[in-house]
Amino acid sequence: MAKPADTKTATSRKPAKGTRSAAETEKIRAALAGRRDELQAEYDQTLSEITELQRERLTDSAGDDQADTGTKTFEREQEISLANGILDRISQVERALERLDEGNYGWCERCGNPIPVERLAAFPSATLCVTCKQLEERR
Ligand SMILES: [Zn+2]
Repeated sequence: MAKPADTKTATSRKPAKGTRSAAETEKIRAALAGRRDELQAEYDQTLSEITELQRERLTDSAGDDQADTGTKTFEREQEISLANGILDRISQVERALERLDEGNYGWCERCGNPIPVERLAAFPSATLCVTCKQLEERR
């Protein structure tokens, strides 16, 4: 005798993934891609500032005293760590895009609900929905 078809689905406690609509997935992809472009522009900008600082250091260092040199080195180091921070965020967004293609992105790790598109656009590395995140922070 054949079993009722619904016993199979009832045993899985986890919410089924992939219920997000294609339109929503596209929205997330567009948000992430836009974010990546923004970061890329920011990175390029920072790099040209580093180059600029470097040039200044080389060209008008003749009249510099110790303090000037120190300030310029400090500024440059700050720019470099800023640039590295941006690179990290770019790779975060790129990983997010890969996971999106695999269908593993944008789901709350705790409750399995879809994380809102707006939240993902603001925090590409978000792994919890707002509710779960708040619960986490309250502990
Ligand atoms: Zn959640």
